[in-house]
Amino acid sequence: MFTKIVAILALTGLALSISLDSNDVIKPTEYNVTMNAIAPLPRWLTEFTGLTAWPGPDPPYIPLNFIDFSKVPNYPRREMDKCPPTRDSCSFDCYKCVSYDDAYTCPKISQTFDDGPSAFTPNLLNNLNHKVTFFTLGMNVVRYPEVYRRAAREGHLMASHTWSHPFLPSLTNEKIVAQFEWSIWAMNATGHHLPKWYRPPYGAIDDRVRAIARMFGMQAVVWDHDLFDWGMETKPPIRTRQKVISDAHKFKAENKGGLVLEHDAYESTVNAAIEVSSIFGPDQLTVAQCVDGINYIKEY
Ligand SMILES: [Zn+2]
Repeated sequence: MFTKIVAILALTGLALSISLDSNDVIKPTEYNVTMNAIAPLPRWLTEFTGLTAWPGPDPPYIPLNFIDFSKVPNYPRREMDKCPPTRDSCSFDCYKCVSYDDAYTCPKISQTFDDGPSAFTPNLLNNLNHKVTFFTLGMNVVRYPEVYRRAAREGHLMASHTWSHPFLPSLTNEKIVAQFEWSIWAMNATGHHLPKWYRPPYGAIDDRVRAIARMFGMQAVVWDHDLFDWGMETKPPIRTRQKVISDAHKFKAENKGGLVLEHDAYESTVNAAIEVSSIFGPDQLTVAQCVDGINYIKEY
């Protein structure tokens, strides 16, 4: 979480003025995902991967015949708070660079929710009068399969946010494949569809990550409006609900569209999102509608 804060603040050029103790903050890798998986691993996936249960936060790389590493540009790996010296790799988190097939804005307002599904997602679903886009973590899809299926059944667009929320540019090509393939398999096993859209955790993407995602047929989605709702959950909080709501009012008053980044992983962010939804109103588009694209690569 601490590094996430630094990354997102760096992304927006804001200074981090509050001293945070990273020992107080739960890191995503501390979740015991295997223990929490409710959904069984389907037999076809056992036969293909040799595993008998969903993997933990560091999923194994399983080779796929359509992945050609010789076509992946050789940009060096980098850690979360390190940016490359040049803009050649088209990094969004460092330089806000977007590529030709990235979705980054919308002609109408488009609410998007990252990091779910969670125990709080049903409350959000109960209070939505329009379709939104969910960028789901594979580890949470198999933990909350019924919530995932309900969101899909109610017409929301389901998209990928990787398997376990790593900083993708820090990973090897093989580990990036693993993050995408296990996320896709979780969505396939649970919702019977293959995602077209993915959002890189922390907005951390470059042309190496994009090249691998394109081999799965997926396109990246970033954002142009961040409500910083997750800041209500840092210790100490760096964001109040009133500020989230007042920023939503300001954005609505601008009377223009955009991709809005929110989260359905916490009670506080879901409660704020319900109020934000009523401020924005139901005249919204899903990410696929924003760019006049397809919802899924395939539905079964
Ligand atoms: Zn996220």
